[in-house]
Amino acid sequence: MSVSDVVAAVKFANKWNLRISIKNTGHDFLGKNLGYGSLGIWVHNLKGIKWSNDWTPTATTQSQRLDKSNNIFENTTAQSVVIYGGGIQWKDLYSAAYTQKKIVTGGTSGSVGAAGGWLQGGGHGFFSNYKGLGVDNVLEFEVVLPTGEVAIANKNSHPDLFWALRGGGGGTWGIVTKVTMKTHDPTTLNGIKISVTPGSSGNAGYLKGMAYLLSVMPEWCDYGISGYPLMYSNIFRTLLSAPGKTMDEMNKFLDPYGKNLTAMGLKVTSYPVPDALNTLLISLNLALNDGLTEITEGDAGIMASRLLGRKGLQDVDGMAKVLGELFANGHVLEPFNIAGGAVEKSKESTGLNPAWRDAIVHMSILPLNQSKFTTNRQVLQSYVATQADISMLDKFSVQSAAYLNEASYLEPDWQKTFWGSNYPRLLKIKQKYDPNNTLWCYPCVGSEVFTRKDDGKLYIT
Ligand SMILES: Cc1cc2nc3c(=O)[nH]c(=O)nc-3n(C[C@H](O)[C@H](O)[C@H](O)COP(=O)(O)OP(=O)(O)OC[C@H]3O[C@@H](n4cnc5c(N)ncnc54)[C@H](O)[C@@H]3O)c2cc1C
Repeated sequence: MSVSDVVAAVKFANKWNLRISIKNTGHDFLGKNLGYGSLGIWVHNLKGIKWSNDWTPTATTQSQRLDKSNNIFENTTAQSVVIYGGGIQWKDLYSAAYTQKKIVTGGTSGSVGAAGGWLQGGGHGFFSNYKGLGVDNVLEFEVVLPTGEVAIANKNSHPDLFWALRGGGGGTWGIVTKVTMKTHDPTTLNGIKISVTPGSSGNAGYLKGMAYLLSVMPEWCDYGISGYPLMYSNIFRTLLSAPGKTMDEMNKFLDPYGKNLTAMGLKVTSYPVPDALNTLLISLNLALNDGLTEITEGDAGIMASRLLGRKGLQDVDGMAKVLGELFANGHVLEPFNIAGGAVEKSKESTGLNPAWRDAIVHMSILPLNQSKFTTNRQVLQSYVATQADISMLDKFSVQSAAYLNEASYLEPDWQKTFWGSNYPRLLKIKQKYDPNNTLWCYPCVGSEVFTRKDDGKLYIT
């Protein structure tokens, strides 16, 4: 499959006035890769991986390269990058990165696509606290526009589109056929596996302990420790890792937190996962991620989420109460402490929800029983209940914002929830590049123009 196949498909769709939907892995929890009656473009076979230590942005015309004050936008200093096709998955890139002795800022699961929803929606992973989100590391896209034209989007060429592609969401701007992303030198990556149970603290003590753990996550993220915890009503488990820190440094830093939990009556078990976990090996051994191993294939993908900030996380009593209610309503919680650090410090101007820059924890709630659902009615009821429950976290969140890739399909104010103050600018860019709404998905930038009715068809709103 090549870019010319994609161009031919887009031209065909335009000729017959067809809507286009794009899919790579089909992982999207909100079903944005689907489109009743659309021409589906499956990008999975757009392969190819190339490494370079002296990449400069793809040349564009002089007029595109200069801003009004005649300054060249992009620093043209040679950079270390990887250039890969629109259908590449993280597992392809991780094993190639191991051979190249480079690290790439990818997702936690090798099966996720590296160019589509993950990247265009934000893209968090093991190294986001250390080196930023996917959108902070991407340097250039090759994209087939809804007109069928092939465009280069970087800081010099179509800078507005480049801005939108970094956080504006997948399936919305064009079909990405190639991505250029920064690579980084490897470093040590020591880890500590931790599990915390109620011990002698009882239910109330456990809830307080969990709220305490959330309240110290800003300190962890500031220190450079991140993780993908799972929080159940009776156990908290995670692997915490810290690029560049020694095992001693990590132990010394985390020890007081363990002691505080023990003093509260909770039982803390931990064991070190030393340098076996170096940043290169982790690329090859994604199973070391303790956080996501229990996702079951075939789950309905029901979840809702909020980005939680420093201030909200300090309300230990308020949080303990809400955690109790969420557990009572049958949820498992995923308080991923993957922001702060480089995510907070990033100077990149992107279409990403600005709330990410003030967030520390991306917290999802998931109904535990969803793998047992057998009817659409059960799924729908659970979606509705989960959406209602997420509002309990609003008071701890950064402006009720959520990560658009791991969120509820039923968010009522989705433009604000997923994009915050960036939405109006994103909408203008959508109208410029896709005035006919050839690419339509929900909830995606510009999707309010149509309403999808029960027959699956789109009607002008
Ligand atoms: C097992 C699992 C693990 C996950 N882990 C993480 C994680 O660690 N970090 C994280 O941030 N998220 C994670 N996610 C969420 C993930 O980011 C989203 O599910 C994302 O939408 C997946 O993108 P995809 O391209 O692989 O999937 P798809 O379903 O194929 O596509 C998702 C969206 O992107 C569009 N798209 C796909 N390819 C292209 C392309 N080439 N050009 C333009 N649009 C395209 C589609 O139209 C759709 O809108 C995970 C999800 C799963 C199921």
